[in-house]
This record gives sequence, C-alpha cells and structure tokens, in this order.
Amino acid sequence: MKLDSLLYDVIIVGGGPAGLTAGLYATRARLKSLLIESYFVPSQAVTTTLIENYPGFSEGISGFELIDRFRKQAKGFGLEFAVGEVRKVAFRKSKDIKIWEVVVDEQKYHSLALIIASGAMPKRLGIEREAEFQGKGVSYCAICDGAFFKDKDIVVVGGGDAAVEETLFLTKFVRKVTVIHRRDKLRATKILQERILTHKKVEFIWNAQVMEILGSQKVEAVKVKDINTKQELEILCQGVFVFIGLMPNTNFIKEVVKVDEEGYIITDENMKTSRESIFSGGDCRKKLLRQVVTACGDGALAAFSAQNYVERLKGIASNSNYSSY
Ligand code: NAP
Repeated sequence: MKLDSLLYDVIIVGGGPAGLTAGLYATRARLKSLLIESYFVPSQAVTTTLIENYPGFSEGISGFELIDRFRKQAKGFGLEFAVGEVRKVAFRKSKDIKIWEVVVDEQKYHSLALIIASGAMPKRLGIEREAEFQGKGVSYCAICDGAFFKDKDIVVVGGGDAAVEETLFLTKFVRKVTVIHRRDKLRATKILQERILTHKKVEFIWNAQVMEILGSQKVEAVKVKDINTKQELEILCQGVFVFIGLMPNTNFIKEVVKVDEEGYIITDENMKTSRESIFSGGDCRKKLLRQVVTACGDGALAAFSAQNYVERLKGIASNSNYSSY
C-alpha cells in the first residue's frame, strides 16, 4: 500500500480535552488527522457543571462550553471528525508499511499512528437495583439530571472533587442534599471542602456505605450502614447521585497496549505506550492528576510524539529528537 490519501497519519480516539488538544496540535503539524468520538460516552469534562481551575477563566466556564471551544478551534485547523464506538484496533502490515485498522461500528479507518484519549466513565456502586433505577432517581451526572430534582431531597455518594463540586451545583435545585461518604474526611480540594462544609442545604453521613436503593417504580429511599457500628438507617430521598471515581474506557485497546490492574494505559513521559506508534493521554492514562489542564498537556505531547513517529516513517523528519522514537 502507498501512503496515499485514504490513510490518515493519525487517528485520535476520544473527543475530550486530551483528544481535541491532540487534534489541534496534529493538524497544525499538518498531519492528516481524524478524531473518533463516542456517541454514548461523553467526556467527563462535558458533564462538569463549572470548571474553575482551567487557567484564563476566572469566573469559571461550563465544561460543555469549554469543549465546544476546543472542538471549533481544532476543526478550524482541519481536524476531521467521525462519531461511533470503537470496537477493535488491529495491526496490519502491507508490504513495508505498518498501519492500524480502527473498527468503528460498521466502518474501518486506517492510520500510521494512534492516539488513545478515550477517557474514563463514572464507577457504579455495584449494588442491587442500581441499574434498574438509573433514570428513575439514580444518576451519575448532575448537569444532565439536576433540574429534575427541584425542591426534592437527594443523596450524593462520594467524597472527591466530583462529589463536592456536583453537590454544590445540585443545591441550586434541591431542598436538601445528604452526602454519604465512606470515611470521616473528604478527599476533595480544600477550597471545595470549605464551601460544602458550611453549606446550609448540605448534611453529611460519615463512615457510611449505601447498602440498598429502595422504591417501587422510582427511588424512594436508601439503606445506609455505619461502617463502625454496623447500624443501619433509611434515608428518604427521591434521587441518588453517585460520584465515586472513574474507570477507564480502555476495553477496546487493553489487549493491544500495556495497562495497569485497573485498565489505565501505561505511557512514558512523552505519552508513548508499550506499542510503537500508539500514544495516549488524558483520563484513560495512568497518572497522578486527572484535570482538564493535565489532559490538554497530555494531548499536546501525544500529538508531538505521533508527529515525530509519522515524519520519521515518511523520511521527512527534521527534528533532532526523532532519534528517540
Ligand atoms: P476520586 O477523586 O477518585 O474520588 C472518589 C471518591 O469516592 C472518594 O472520596 C472515595 O472514597 C469514594 N469512593 C470510591 N469508591 C467508592 C465506593 N465503592 N463506595 C463509596 N465511596 C467510594 O473521584 P472523582 O471525584 O470522580 O474525581 C476523579 C478525578 O477527576 C480526580 O482526579 C479528580 O481530582 C478529578 N476531578 C477534578 C475536578 C476539579 O478539579 N474541579 C472535578 C471533578 C473531578 P475515599 O476518599 O475513601 O477513597
């Protein structure tokens, strides 16, 4: 096969901050680039009500608007988009050219390099009837569902940044929020803790675990167990919002590149995975800090590393760093 126009230089999987930043850098490097975004799994950033820690936006910006701006910017430089679920990634060798085949629903796309920025999705509690009540009181997205709980009583499960930020957002609608956390201390950033711990609409149940969701057609209550005393109590509520962390969207790639025990992709500091020509960044990557700003940094580096690889392959490398790829 010739390196012809049917072949992309780079395919990016994921339309969040890491993928879109990779797209911006790749297109500006004049790589023929395609970004594949999921229809069903939105970026965590899109579902974040207000992003206050992305530099340059002192009043904060909604995740939806920020991603929309990223998207328009990358599109303006020539990034192509396709929508669908990536089913499989397979290695193909045609004569001397190594290419990746990306199967998206019924369609196949081919590229010289891949950037996996497929993000992560909310973890489930894993208790009985959780799935049955999703959309009937159980939610993993405050911005999507908050308005349905006007003047209602709800519980939030979790103690990290997402639980605290989204609880603060939900107080705009609901009568009362009870935060149920498995320890006696929040994990969230200190400034968020200061806001929530003094909020009049928010109560806490510490050292507790949600055991059961109760109701007939919709959520009516949760059964909670004190981890120390083992005492159980029922809390009447119409909504259960779960923010207990993330799990990576890496099922389609975890047999191709090295991942850790939780499925997060392992990379070096230049976003290179265990496979030459596959790079990764954002929430699906094993890392210390999952934020929009770190995802953008990952995306830029992944694109630069992919550029180095592709140009070396085509014999047009002009950068002295290429020797390391
Ligand atoms: P997280 O930081 O991993 O926190 C998860 C919380 O849920 C922890 O408090 C944890 O308890 C609790 N938890 C975990 N498994 C549980 C279970 N099975 N049952 C009950 N509770 C459970 O997750 P996150 O808040 O979703 O945030 C994910 C990442 O996105 C983090 O890196 C976070 O910093 C980032 N994020 C940042 C912002 C921001 O900067 N504004 C906003 C949202 C998210 P323990 O504390 O006991 O472990």
